[in-house]
Amino acid sequence: ERERLTRLRHTPAQTLDGQTIELLANIEQPEDSPAVVKAGAVGVGLFRSEFLFMGRGGKLPGEEEQYQAYRAALEGLEGMPLTIRTIDVGADKPLEGKINASLNPALGLRAIRWSLAEPVMFRTQLRAILRAAAHGKVNMLFPMVAHRSEITQILAQLRLAQSELDARGVAYGKVELGAMIEIPAAALMVRTFLQYFDFLSIGTNDLIQYTLAIDRADEAVAELYDPLHPAVLQLVAQVIREANAAGKSVCVCGEMAGDVAFTKLLLGLGLRSFSMHPAQVLAVKQEVLRTDTRKLHDWAQAVLDADDPTAALQQTADSLTSLA
Ligand code: PEP
Ligand code: MG
Repeated sequence: ERERLTRLRHTPAQTLDGQTIELLANIEQPEDSPAVVKAGAVGVGLFRSEFLFMGRGGKLPGEEEQYQAYRAALEGLEGMPLTIRTIDVGADKPLEGKINASLNPALGLRAIRWSLAEPVMFRTQLRAILRAAAHGKVNMLFPMVAHRSEITQILAQLRLAQSELDARGVAYGKVELGAMIEIPAAALMVRTFLQYFDFLSIGTNDLIQYTLAIDRADEAVAELYDPLHPAVLQLVAQVIREANAAGKSVCVCGEMAGDVAFTKLLLGLGLRSFSMHPAQVLAVKQEVLRTDTRKLHDWAQAVLDADDPTAALQQTADSLTSLA
């Protein structure tokens, strides 16, 4: 089976009806880039940049060190695009001595909230990413945005970072801007996000956690952590639908994207871009190659409307395979 999958490395991810599906990879370090090329992905949909900041006793990397790291990640991709998420710390991603003192860290000063509270740190990262973008295709992705005021602050900080580089005469490149949709509020107000951002990326790991009020890392409630909960599916479906209607790209970069049990459902909901662990790319590609998206729309809609989507998915999975 492994060998059979490996042969798909250079096969384009195209459905039976000729739709090209973008299969991207998630990375945590620049050293992960070669694995992305090897996996047969077409780029990085999520570079979790916080891993450059964690595990160093709270001593944060400066602009030059970050620039070198982003540039190395980009060059390791051999011309493919790199989406860098700005620092996403808090709760399950602690930053020593800096963050996590909140009473409830999952709901506290974290991710973009922390970045906007530490504008000097934030602009250091923005400048490093902008500089890396002089060397290839780089996108910027912002985690846990939920408020319109956060969007306008992000854009203001970005303009400031650009003018700081201008003042120093340092070269930088153009970037596309994206927001993670991982807080239910963001999914519900997705039209506002679509006005400001070039693309969206649905973080199902946190979207499930916050929609269901289930700590994603707590074993005691792990059984209730359900990607197929009807409320989660409604939010995911709405974001995909609105982004497609607006002609903007939308990706799923949470664990759901790399689980072949969900590939057809996400395709049926209109998703055309997936980002996952490099080790999952070939299996998802195989599923894509076997799928005819024309046969999925009504079926996905029925799963979405079911009282029990898990049962609906299981009952119909077999008939879909024979359809394809
Ligand atoms: C997510 O929340 O789904 C996501 C991709 O980000 P992370 O797992 O890093 O929180
Ligand atoms: Mg997240």
